[in-house]
Amino acid sequence: MSQQRGPVCRLCRRAGQKLFLKGQRCYSPKCAMERKSYPPGYRGRGSRRYRVSDYSKQLREKQKLRRIYGVSEEQFRRYVREAERMSGISGDNLLQLLERRLDNVIYRAGLANSRAQARQMVSHRHFVVDAQVVNIPSYLVRVGQRIEARDGSKDIQPIEEALAATAGAESSGWLQVNQKDRVVEVVSLPEPEEIHLDVDEQLVMEFYSR
Ligand code: SF4
Repeated sequence: MSQQRGPVCRLCRRAGQKLFLKGQRCYSPKCAMERKSYPPGYRGRGSRRYRVSDYSKQLREKQKLRRIYGVSEEQFRRYVREAERMSGISGDNLLQLLERRLDNVIYRAGLANSRAQARQMVSHRHFVVDAQVVNIPSYLVRVGQRIEARDGSKDIQPIEEALAATAGAESSGWLQVNQKDRVVEVVSLPEPEEIHLDVDEQLVMEFYSR
């Protein structure tokens, strides 16, 4: 698993859109995209138009998706290969694989403010899957599994803060969340329309098929 290194807001500015990498800050006026929505190093050049090649578009979508989930290039490439092997539309398969990561599930359930925070909590052994401690953020959940914060971890500060910030928010339809008990059940696999991301996954697959 790769941690995003350096100032992550630059990644959003480079992508030209919010990637929501810093928890609640992303929803506040402090978000760098609210203040400086041009790419790093482009100050004053915003009005110029540059022709964007197909390759650049594919590369940009790939980088966006990889950074949203905080996955290394090597690991991302493995997801792409796996998505191609699966039946169905490979772009949809790729999104589904990424969405099934344990750190993402914790984030989607509102038990962490960001995927990076969820990843850290998983690594620190705060969660069990079907009563077994799992400390691998890339663990892929399956239908019928039950994810739960461990007894001594249910009231840790990051979980309390995340729940306070997401109170009343709707969770993903493929997850049944009991926020009070810090329990998440996987009731189905995520469908593409349940994964609300502003990314063109087909361009990502085209990038790797070049
Ligand atoms: Fe991106 Fe969040 Fe930083 Fe805004 S605050 S630029 S959405 S990481």
